[in-house]
Amino acid sequence: MAYRLAIMLALVAPTVAAASATVSYNDKLKEALPDFEMPAAWQRSHPPFRVIGNVYGVGGFDLASYLITSADGHILINTSIEGSIEDISANIGALGYDIADVKILLSMQSHFDHTADLARIKEETGAKMYATAPDVRVLEDGGFSDPHFGGFETFRPIKVDKIVGDGEVIELGDIKLTVHYHPGHTEGSSSYAMAVQENGKIYHVLIANMGTINPGKKLVVEPTYPGVAEDFAYTYRTQKAMPVDIWVAAHKSQYGFYYKYDRSKPYSPDTFVDPQGFVDAVKQLEASYRVQLQQETTEREAANDN
Ligand SMILES: [Zn+2]
Repeated sequence: MAYRLAIMLALVAPTVAAASATVSYNDKLKEALPDFEMPAAWQRSHPPFRVIGNVYGVGGFDLASYLITSADGHILINTSIEGSIEDISANIGALGYDIADVKILLSMQSHFDHTADLARIKEETGAKMYATAPDVRVLEDGGFSDPHFGGFETFRPIKVDKIVGDGEVIELGDIKLTVHYHPGHTEGSSSYAMAVQENGKIYHVLIANMGTINPGKKLVVEPTYPGVAEDFAYTYRTQKAMPVDIWVAAHKSQYGFYYKYDRSKPYSPDTFVDPQGFVDAVKQLEASYRVQLQQETTEREAANDN
C-alpha cells in the first residue's frame, strides 16, 4: 500500500456499498480517495519468470503472483489490482500452462493490491479459495472490515472454500506446500514454503509475506487490532528461524527482484538463492517495528504526564 493511500484511507468515513458484478473497484477507489494515485509500478505488466523448479512468477512489474504447477493442476498465490487477471492469464499462457487449470487460490495478505481479481479467477476457473482463518472475514467482505484500510469495499469479495491452518501442508498432485501464519501486516498474513529438488540439491523456498507496517498503523496505543504488536514480534521471530535458501515476496521490491533477475540470462536455480538477504530483510523490518514501539510508548507517557 502506498503512503498516501494509507493517509487518505485513515480519513475516509465508513460507507456501506453492496457488491455487484459490474462494480469497478479501481473506480471506487478513485471515488473514495480522489487524491490517491495508483502507483505506476502496480499497473505495469512484466513477463513471467521461473523462480525455481515448478515455481513461477506470473504477476506484474511490482505486485507479485506465483504459480506452482503440477500435472494435476496448479496453485496460484495472489493477484494484483483489479484487471490483473488479463496479465496473469497471459503470463501463465506464455509459460505453456492454462489459467483454467488453476485448482487452488491463495493469498498472502488480504489487501486489495494482492487480492482484487481472486474472485474473478475463481468464477472463471472454478478454483477453490483457501485462506488462513484470520483473513477469511476480510476476504469475504472485500476489505470492508479491514481494521486499517476498511470502511468500504476495496476489492471484489471472495467466498473462502477452505480454511488452512498454520503448518498445514496443501497437496495438489506432487505439490506439497506448507502454510506458515505470519500475522501482523494483516491479521491472517501468511507465507508458503516448499522444498524443491534440483541440481542434486534441495532448496528451501519461501514465498514470504514480509512484516511491513503500513503508515498510520498503531501497535500498542489504540492498536489497529488487538494483539497486532505481538503478531509482528511472532512473525519476525519465526521467520528468522526458518530454513530459507530462496525467498520471494508479495512485492518484487521487497526481495530485490530487479537486482537478482536478468531476463537476458538463462534460467538458473541459483538466481534467487539469498538466505542472508532474507534474514537481513526481516531484521530491518523488526528494527523499524522497535522504533515505532518506542515512539508510541514515549508519546503515551508524554500524554499521561500532561
Ligand atoms: Zn498490504
